[in-house]
Amino acid sequence: MSDARPRDVLTFPERPDAQLTDSVGRRFEYLRLSLTDVCNFRCTYCLPEGYRKQCGKPAELSVEEIGRIVSAFARLGLWKVRLTGGEPTLRRDFDEVARTVSSVPGIRRLAMTTNGYRLAERAQAWRDSGVSAINISLDSLDPARFSTITGHDRLDEVLRGVEAARAAGFESIKLNAVLMRGVNDGELEAMIDFVAQRDLSLRFIEVMRTNDNASFFAERHLPGQTVIDQLEGLGWNRRARDPGAGPAVEYCHPQAKGRIGIIAPYSKDFCASCNRLRISSDGRLHLCLFGDGGLDLRPLLQDDASEDALVDRIRALTATKAPAHRLHQGNSGATPHLASIGG
Ligand code: SAM
Ligand code: SF4
Repeated sequence: MSDARPRDVLTFPERPDAQLTDSVGRRFEYLRLSLTDVCNFRCTYCLPEGYRKQCGKPAELSVEEIGRIVSAFARLGLWKVRLTGGEPTLRRDFDEVARTVSSVPGIRRLAMTTNGYRLAERAQAWRDSGVSAINISLDSLDPARFSTITGHDRLDEVLRGVEAARAAGFESIKLNAVLMRGVNDGELEAMIDFVAQRDLSLRFIEVMRTNDNASFFAERHLPGQTVIDQLEGLGWNRRARDPGAGPAVEYCHPQAKGRIGIIAPYSKDFCASCNRLRISSDGRLHLCLFGDGGLDLRPLLQDDASEDALVDRIRALTATKAPAHRLHQGNSGATPHLASIGG
């Protein structure tokens, strides 16, 4: 990436006008950047048949395009980026992407989400490339159930990865567990116990309906309130929201080392605290996980000279973000599965 303009001059977070906001006053500080749609797992709620190559799909963003997009968002005051996918670590240039994004002036936190594949071997390299926070998907602590959910008998490997991440010194490690009625709801207590003994956060995520998983959703969706009832019964207390926190509600317990969060998109007011925007692996801006096909930014990513135009376009498009999703009306938007937009 050429550096024709002095990047530090473009580090705007301190400037009062460097804010990305929408028509209802939500402020966006967090970008989820999908690096690829490709995944090697076959999670039942996401890609039950595995990843299928789509004919005519545009190429993934290059490292240069990624650098430009993140620089433009950083000019608008955005300071946190999450690398996701598909499985982002399947990109051969993952470490280079991480180094590029983490060195953009104004980006103070680089996070990633992974299914844990190769985490045991790569945790330290990813940390050294500038990733400071890592979310690891872990829907079950039972090897057979893990294998049924993901299509891979790799629970041991992922658990070794969690330990490697702890040793590598990430500032934040979160485990993501998708709640599924009749699948992993019988092991909530074991999972709560797992984090009670470790300095980790566990997030229970309500399974979300997408275009491809309507019947799975109907059968398996379990409200996050089920976990909340269980936590409160076990003496866990709801924590006050940190400023700028996302939509998870968080619980802690005086005797527990870890914390537990619940992400419940079907709950009232979920959208009111939305502070994130998404970029798909082919450079489309998605204003909502459950919105339409995304807005193409790629023509403005081809050279550094288009940066001002890119900033203006991002600002104008973000202003049009809808106040809330339409999940309650049964409308989950155009997203076929979350691997296509980064979850
Ligand atoms: N492959 C990586 C992984 O699984 O961690 C990153 C991408 S994945 C799409 C990001 C997150 O979305 C994961 O924690 C996954 O469990 C979650 N997810 C995928 N499909 C979902 C769905 N339909 N409902 C709720 N969460 C989902
Ligand atoms: Fe792959 Fe992640 Fe989707 Fe599972 S949730 S199929 S690991 S993209």
